[in-house]
Amino acid sequence: MKVYTSQWDSLVILDDILYREWISSNLKSKVLQLIVPRNYINTVLEEAHDSPSSGYFGVNKTLQKVRKRFYWASYKKDIENWCRSCSKCITRKGPSDKCHSIQKTRTTPLHPQSDGQVERQNRTIIDYLAKYISDNQKDWDRWIALYLLAYRSSVHATTGTSPAEMYTGSDLRLPLDLMRGRLPEVENPYTRENYVHKLKNDIDKIHDFTRTHIKITSQRSKKYYDRTARHINFTNNQKVWFFNTRRLKGRTPKLQSN
Ligand SMILES: [Zn+2]
Repeated sequence: MKVYTSQWDSLVILDDILYREWISSNLKSKVLQLIVPRNYINTVLEEAHDSPSSGYFGVNKTLQKVRKRFYWASYKKDIENWCRSCSKCITRKGPSDKCHSIQKTRTTPLHPQSDGQVERQNRTIIDYLAKYISDNQKDWDRWIALYLLAYRSSVHATTGTSPAEMYTGSDLRLPLDLMRGRLPEVENPYTRENYVHKLKNDIDKIHDFTRTHIKITSQRSKKYYDRTARHINFTNNQKVWFFNTRRLKGRTPKLQSN
């Protein structure tokens, strides 16, 4: 409750629904975040992380998806806990993303670590498919379109913007938007008269933001690489994750989720 009173000025009631007004970082425009009642928090988290349009992506992508639409006092902590304790993510990648990149210099089968852009994208697709396809792996092609929806609607770590926003100036509509429901009239809507001008203006803002973001992230990732490119030393009796691919006839280990 305290958190909400401290934000009194950004809270609004529109059509009997409580929202928080938030200025999104890349468009610098107002977003109406629906205040989520406690009972619905898990439903939002499930849709924003576990659903096929969200792809079991990491903390940051999940966070960005949520905060463009929803708000509640402990949302950052709740999203972190949700993703870090998610069994699908843990069995697939090990306990956190960091463990993934530490061994950058060594290559193991089924883990393309050289991290070229293509390998990286392939890994993202394979990670996605492994979590959704059926046990017999024959339906993998049915999931590609949903993977693309998840990918294009998620904020990219380097650009800080979703691919959809980069290309079209606005986000894709997701099941999460249906959960938030129909929004009240916005202040500065697209009209027939202003459409071209407003679209150009929105896309310019997004691209400006993206250029700045890329500069910052490339400096940061150099620092991060310098700090973490080293061997890890295991100690006796330390618990480690064992990457165990069961070879099953007719299935590719790449797409197995365990
Ligand atoms: Zn997960």
